Amino acid sequence: KSKYGIDIWGNDNFFVEDGLVKVNYKPYPSLISITKDIRKQGFKGPLLLRFPHITKKQIKTLFNAFNASIKEYDYKGTFNAVFPLKVNQLPNFTHPLIAAGKKYNYGLEAGSKAELIIAMTYNNMGSPITVNGFKDKEMIHLCFIAKSMGHDITVIIEGLNELEMIIEVFNETKLEAPNVGIRVRLHSGGSGVWAKSGGIDSKFGLTSTEILEAYELMKENDLENLLTMIHFHIGSAMNTIKPLKKALRESGHIYAELKNLGAKNLNSINIGGGLSVEYSSYERTIFYSLNEFASDVVFTLKEIARQKGVEEPNIFTESGRFISAASTVLIAPVLELFSAEYELDHLKLKEVNPPLIQELYELFKDMTKKKAYEFMHDSIDHLESLLTLFDLGYIDLQDRSNAEILTHQIIKKATSLLEIEDYEELKRFDKNIQEKYLLNFSLFQSLPDYWGINQEFPIMPITHLDKKPTRRASLWDITCDSDGEIPFDMKKPLYLHDVNLNKEDYFLAFFNVGAYQDTLGMKHNLFSHPTEINIVFKDEEVILEKLLESQKIIDILDDIDYDTQEIQTILSRSLPLETYEIMKKYLNDNSYLKTIWSYYDE
Ligand code: PLP
Repeated sequence: KSKYGIDIWGNDNFFVEDGLVKVNYKPYPSLISITKDIRKQGFKGPLLLRFPHITKKQIKTLFNAFNASIKEYDYKGTFNAVFPLKVNQLPNFTHPLIAAGKKYNYGLEAGSKAELIIAMTYNNMGSPITVNGFKDKEMIHLCFIAKSMGHDITVIIEGLNELEMIIEVFNETKLEAPNVGIRVRLHSGGSGVWAKSGGIDSKFGLTSTEILEAYELMKENDLENLLTMIHFHIGSAMNTIKPLKKALRESGHIYAELKNLGAKNLNSINIGGGLSVEYSSYERTIFYSLNEFASDVVFTLKEIARQKGVEEPNIFTESGRFISAASTVLIAPVLELFSAEYELDHLKLKEVNPPLIQELYELFKDMTKKKAYEFMHDSIDHLESLLTLFDLGYIDLQDRSNAEILTHQIIKKATSLLEIEDYEELKRFDKNIQEKYLLNFSLFQSLPDYWGINQEFPIMPITHLDKKPTRRASLWDITCDSDGEIPFDMKKPLYLHDVNLNKEDYFLAFFNVGAYQDTLGMKHNLFSHPTEINIVFKDEEVILEKLLESQKIIDILDDIDYDTQEIQTILSRSLPLETYEIMKKYLNDNSYLKTIWSYYDE
């Protein structure tokens, strides 16, 4: 029985029991029971289940790891963290995050004006706000306004011009200035898939010459006391820790040099994000632990401070993926298996069949485990010959249908007889032998990183886990785009169950989708975000909170700037009243598929 790598990526958030995926939090509900509760309310499309308790656990884990290292090394600086809003800005995610972060003084990072407004509005007062990315004078003015509200805000400059704008806004508004941080352009490269965020030719940060110039410029304007932070970010999803150590040494020395130049209020190093999350279901791909990561940061910074005789800096992190990825699970209903038309009850053998078809029938009847590979390969050869015979006009459509059904059934029988456990075995299969599962979701909307950068996500069915999955699966979404597919991969094989969707439901869950996917997702074919819901636990009860329905069609059209009034006027004019009433219902529904099996009701 496959557990789909849950021991590798699951981090004890979920477990398998009685054939079901369950949430590892009392009263341990199964994902299927949660899914059914929501579907009962009429939401038949994909669902995003958000688990705020997992976000809370990640925040706690992060703080505990760093605070333990600080204690172990008797480190004098403090540990601080902010959540980078770019990783997930949606209110159902951020509100519980901010509430859970309060006792840790956990703050927010903003990379745009819109994100800054979220931070200004909702950040726990007194918790830090950091501001990254390219800024204009207006954005810098917003930072001043945030400061005037009482926020502990640090503007991290990406270039000298930003410092010049800070000085201008300061002189023009006479408002109290926010703290200033300097993002350093490291000569050491980054790590992971996003390695280009670090390194000498990275898009971001100041060179050593510019850092010195920036400090001079601040001094000239009597603003050197604004400088509090040195910042770097070496890239998201680091799979090894080595580049981090190099970056720490480099930025640690920059910190110490500036301290020794007289930067009195400089007191922090912000190490950006980058903590990884395991997405693989097959083997571990991350080669460090959080504790090791924390120890390395604390130890390296302590050493540099000792060597250069400066005070040990406070540590800031901006890890986002680590905090948010596991909190969200996408549930996609399986709508159809594309082999359904090859079921045995469609077989209509004739009194006398062409010899090859008769032979296929014998292969099917006589198959044993020992003969499974051989018969399967024979049947594929036979099918090919029969299809050629059809093209040449020697067999009819009924024969062709029989041949396809029999071959399909032979493969199905063989796969369930064989214990396909390892890759070598798998290679003996024809790569075309696979089942297509049509899922009610959009890959472009819900797994944009799969589409864009081939990011793997853990996938597993949420029921049937006490049965052996025998179907080599490729997954199709409902967009009219052939890129909306997760093909079967021999190296990372996904097996799913052979289910009869006329009789039972089958749902797939995609895990670790809480980082970056929500707002990177796009409305290809005008499928908008899935219906989402927060699953909260109170007194051992499961509470479904803040249900946010997938966008209505009329609102999606409004979003892309159609005149929806005009749409309604044109349609109502062109339709009889009672038809238009029905039409209105459709306009107020979402785009995902709803009724597929009219004769099967849950
Ligand atoms: N901080 C900065 C400046 C970033 O650019 C990013 C992501 O790109 C992060 C933090 C978050 O990184 P991660 O999600 O890998 O922790």
